[in-house]
Amino acid sequence: MSNIGFVGLGIMGAPMCRNLLKAGHSLVVFDIVPALVERVVGYGATAAASASAAAAKSDIVITMLPDGPEVEQAVLGPAGVLEGARAGATVVDMSSISPLVAQKVGAACAAKGVRFVDAPVSGGEPKAIDATLAIMAGGDEAVFNEVAPILQAMGSSVTLTGPVGAGNVTKLANQIMVACNIAAMGEALVLATKAGLDPNVVFNAVTGGLAGSTVLNAKAPMVIGRNFKPGFRIRLHQKDLRNALLAAESMKVGLPLTSSVQQMLMALMNDGKGDLDHSAIVTFIEEMAGTEVKPPASA
Ligand code: NAD
Repeated sequence: MSNIGFVGLGIMGAPMCRNLLKAGHSLVVFDIVPALVERVVGYGATAAASASAAAAKSDIVITMLPDGPEVEQAVLGPAGVLEGARAGATVVDMSSISPLVAQKVGAACAAKGVRFVDAPVSGGEPKAIDATLAIMAGGDEAVFNEVAPILQAMGSSVTLTGPVGAGNVTKLANQIMVACNIAAMGEALVLATKAGLDPNVVFNAVTGGLAGSTVLNAKAPMVIGRNFKPGFRIRLHQKDLRNALLAAESMKVGLPLTSSVQQMLMALMNDGKGDLDHSAIVTFIEEMAGTEVKPPASA
């Protein structure tokens, strides 16, 4: 069992901490929001006054923060993880951030004799609670093998995808496929509804064919039921596609579909929908058509 520091106790971090405690690890935790620290102390963790203090007591420090700037601040900044971390300790950043930032933070850790793995997750809050996250890691194979049993306490699939940064490249690939799938589903269901069809009937007709997908099964019923309670927020997906486009630009890769969906996400945020579920991408296409995806009134 390990002494683990955990920084970032939000929607995902808190249940991940709970599963690490259940697996028998001891946890020292920090978040800039004191109420979130108190909640995880209630699960059995010990509070730290800073990320640096959490790191000083730990062999492994996990971070689960919104985006790259917060990871840079919490790891490299004043009172950050690197100020407290012992040489030979390991930082595992599980946030979804730009692979370029993951590499920068990894290099800064290496310069201080601290090992680094990027290990973003897919699955959202329900899978964080059930410890069934898909975890995609990037780092040195020997370091990965050491931390894999800890990651397995939070996820049902833990995969090393390449060197530092590869975990976040894999996560961005995942986010591109999900966002473009939701947008394509939106165009399809808006067209069918405007043509006078019941979108439930269309969904049932196609779900077993080639167009069927996990995204379709999860998101079409939400759209048809007009339930946009998050799951995964529009603003987080906008962040992920921005990071995908920045990484793509640095490699001179064109991502025309991702660019289009990114524009939709930005428009939705400006329309006050940033905290809706990403299935609300469909509402952008609905507005262009003047049609809502819902069963006909008589159905
Ligand atoms: P969240 O906003 O609920 O939690 C982030 C936490 O980080 C907050 O509690 C915040 O107070 C804390 N924080 C910010 N800056 C800090 C700092 N400098 N020091 C210490 N704490 C700090 O976000 P979340 O939904 O838990 O997501 C975390 C990461 O996981 C994001 O990168 C997100 O894209 C990714 N992710 C989220 C989901 C999801 O469904 N929510 C799914 C997969 C991946």
